[in-house]
Amino acid sequence: MIVVKFGGTSVQDTSAVLRAAEVVRGRLSRRPVVVVSALGGATNALLAIAEQASQGHLISALSAVEGLRDRHLRTAEELLAEAPSAQAADVMADLSATFDELASLAEALSVLGHVTPRSMDAIAAKGEMLSSELVVAAFRARDIPATHVNAMHVMVTGEQYGRAEPLPERIAEAARRHVRPLVERGEVPVLGGFVGATELGIVTTLGRGGSDYSASLFGAALGADAIEIWTDVDGMLTADPRVVPDAQLIERIGFDEASELASFGAKVLHPSTIAPAVRLGIPVYIYNSRNPSGRGTQITFDAPVRDVRAIAGKQGVTVVKVRSPRMLLAHGFLRTVFEIFDKHRTSIDVVATSEVSVSLTVDDATHLDGLVVDLSQLGDVSVERNRGIVALVGANLGNSSEAMSRALAAISPMKVHMLSLSASGINLTILVDGDQVAPAMRALHRAFFGVSND
Ligand code: ADP
Ligand code: ASP
Ligand code: MG
Repeated sequence: MIVVKFGGTSVQDTSAVLRAAEVVRGRLSRRPVVVVSALGGATNALLAIAEQASQGHLISALSAVEGLRDRHLRTAEELLAEAPSAQAADVMADLSATFDELASLAEALSVLGHVTPRSMDAIAAKGEMLSSELVVAAFRARDIPATHVNAMHVMVTGEQYGRAEPLPERIAEAARRHVRPLVERGEVPVLGGFVGATELGIVTTLGRGGSDYSASLFGAALGADAIEIWTDVDGMLTADPRVVPDAQLIERIGFDEASELASFGAKVLHPSTIAPAVRLGIPVYIYNSRNPSGRGTQITFDAPVRDVRAIAGKQGVTVVKVRSPRMLLAHGFLRTVFEIFDKHRTSIDVVATSEVSVSLTVDDATHLDGLVVDLSQLGDVSVERNRGIVALVGANLGNSSEAMSRALAAISPMKVHMLSLSASGINLTILVDGDQVAPAMRALHRAFFGVSND
């Protein structure tokens, strides 16, 4: 059994869904379980609807609902043009009912005048609910024995709306009950990614880009032989091709390297995707749905070792610095700092310490105000916004001082605010000004992989 996940661009319109159908048809003998994202752009549109409605702009929110309805119904109509008309009418009615519900939700939000993470999830989740219904109908119309499985019945999570934590044992149990029997009967289960529900059945989501994570969680729950992520690039590349146009395909990459790249900005994979797969040693492949015969990337334990495998980067990084003479020779100081971050549910990316100060970087500054108040009890706190991180990733990087010095030479004379080699020696992170991330990535790529023009 394999899990095959299609991202937003891979189901964005009629021709994309048709390509996805052919990918699945070619894999029927491997017993695929299909996971789909919302139609490309739909999640952004849904979140904007929730915002607009809650700010009292009901007319524009409702007109955006109608825009999405048109897009989904038009795509369904095209995909079901040759299906029996009663069958097509049922599908259109089901899709349309979801949009009626969405319009009522928007109206309710405009009356309330505010939106909670829980209602945001209720709205955001509609994208995958719609796309999965649409894909099932399209596959069935092409003789692929697809069956819809409501992801809310399988992806059991905690109550952290907006970025819920999956409960793997409950998911495994639900997958055995709702998904495995279908596979054993020769059917192709299709589930929406990103979407989950609490044990009480309240809708949650796994956070932006979370369909990759859904695929790996379902893969682990079902003991799949492989997890395939189908997207809009040829695989994992030596850098984001939007920033470095001549980035090259990586055919094989280690789990740990892929995981670091994802955490430091390689959006091609949600950062949590690797953990469930690595636990069971399930290989993860990344393929291009527009170029299905491409070689793709294999993420595996036994990739050949390199000093520098790829470069990632991200902007919008905030640095928090705590300076305290009390830190000098004192033990327990860092523990207290970390406890404060934990209390404010803020995860730290990079840490650097000196005798009397500690600098920490965070991606998500939502809880920054409370954090600073608590940290101020420990010493002087300063905050630097609009920083960025570039990360050099390679399993042998820690053993190559030549690679590290080449990296620093490549980005000279850019200002480096912080430098950190991960304990495993696999990741060199360099903190730069936010607007220097793209030029730094291009300079590093040129230094390690050859030509790359600014
Ligand atoms: P999907 O909708 O299929 O989940 P995403 O937009 O989430 O697709 O991820 C694919 C995008 O990730 C690519 O279009 C590319 O711009 C970006 N990306 C960033 N870093 C990398 C990288 N190292 N290799 C490949 N793609 C990358
Ligand atoms: N549709 C969701 C998003 O846009 C999840 C995903 O596509 O992975 O964030
Ligand atoms: Mg994605």
